Amino acid sequence: MPDSVNPATARTEKSFARHSAEDARNAIGNARAAFEEWRATPVADRAALLRRVAEVLDARRDEMARLATTEMGKRIAEARAEVEKCAWVCHYYADNAETFLADETRESSAAKSFVRYQPLGIVLAVMPWNFPYWQVFRFAAPALMAGNVGLLKHASNVPQCAMAIEESFLEAGFPQGVFASLLIGSDQVEAIIADDRVRAVTLTGSEAAGRSVAALAGKHIKPSVLELGGSDPFVVMPSADLDAAVETAVAARMINNAQSCIAAKRFIVHSDIHARFVEAMADRFQALKIGDPMDEDTELGPLSSRQALEGLDAQVRALADAGASVICGGAPVDRPGHYFEPTLIADIPDNAGTRFEELFGPVAMVFEAASIDDAVRLANETPFGLGSAVWTRDQDEIDHFVNAIEAGSVFVNQKVASDPRLPFGGVKNSGYGRELSREGIVGFVNVKTVSIA
Ligand code: NAP
Repeated sequence: MPDSVNPATARTEKSFARHSAEDARNAIGNARAAFEEWRATPVADRAALLRRVAEVLDARRDEMARLATTEMGKRIAEARAEVEKCAWVCHYYADNAETFLADETRESSAAKSFVRYQPLGIVLAVMPWNFPYWQVFRFAAPALMAGNVGLLKHASNVPQCAMAIEESFLEAGFPQGVFASLLIGSDQVEAIIADDRVRAVTLTGSEAAGRSVAALAGKHIKPSVLELGGSDPFVVMPSADLDAAVETAVAARMINNAQSCIAAKRFIVHSDIHARFVEAMADRFQALKIGDPMDEDTELGPLSSRQALEGLDAQVRALADAGASVICGGAPVDRPGHYFEPTLIADIPDNAGTRFEELFGPVAMVFEAASIDDAVRLANETPFGLGSAVWTRDQDEIDHFVNAIEAGSVFVNQKVASDPRLPFGGVKNSGYGRELSREGIVGFVNVKTVSIA
């Protein structure tokens, strides 16, 4: 532990030794020393280094993509696109950080008053395996541009990706200690958060991990950002372009082998078009080509681990046992690796507990809505509130959904996607704080008020 296990074959590819508690303390010491210089480095110089990271990512794209596919099973084309997106977020913050961080004059009764944004110091990032590069870069690019330094505790199943990220910063010329990866277990996180030299923590992952890290951050009075799970609604009203909605629904559910926080997971379809939608979606699901994620033709690859497969299987069985109809799929695929059939579930009883859970795999729950109010009620019925998509060509309906849906974002006539230019985050049990855009860089800074009489 940590191990690289190929989800397509269930074979262990490589094992790594964990970093010890002493290694972690040393890394914190190095990071603290690096912070003193890094905070004084002009923003333009930080930006030049971040642009170099983007160049390294471009140059190493194919190799890094293969690593991700081997460790966590995402389709190779999606892995390449992920590395490219990381280069984009580096360019975005290299181009915009100076403007985002500029002093802001605020009128007051003093002769001069303004706000200055200053770095906090070491930020610990606890990250998940599902977008093993993107989750890290969307934290690191703004945090480092703001003058902070980063320590990464990546998910235990992606140690090679974790090391490749650290290497990309070093190869670009970042000073030692500004960004480092620690190969540690979740049981070693508490000691790091407790360390006085660590000033903030961000976690992307499950609700359970979020609760634990947020509690520790609270205990030690450290600011935290939580990007947690979701069970995003995808609402389709009668005026929608149904063909486009179905096509996007399939893509929105199956993105990243159906293991994305912002994947559409609950399809809420108006009664007038419900039967047509279910039939078209089931046809598409059954036609998906399941296979090796290294194969360019594969449309759906494996889940990340045996544990994930077993967990999803249990959730599907619980829905069926509660009386839901399994329209297609419903079981693991009989082949090596951690594959699950594309599964469509309808007629889910109100009291089926699993309907309120996140299904992290190729399973879509479809709900029938009698009206727009019913659609909003269903959209808001889970404890999550990450993203949401609504399909309608009626402007009044769009306005109503935008106001009424409890989520960190509403995407209209398209699927939910993250974009460096737009803030990203959730409400309710999907977490708090925002990443990306301007909000993402002012999340981990000291908003210092300066007032001169
Ligand atoms: P996870 O099990 O919560 O793991 C995420 C990270 O947290 C890993 O580094 C993990 O380390 C660590 N961790 C787990 N329990 C911890 C604890 N008690 N204390 C400290 N650290 C802990 O989540 P996952 O299975 O990797 O990722 C899937 C989840 O992440 C889904 O719910 C998904 O929706 C969510 N997610 C959210 C977003 C978003 O932006 N909102 C994005 C992607 C994924 P180990 O691997 O060593 O256990």
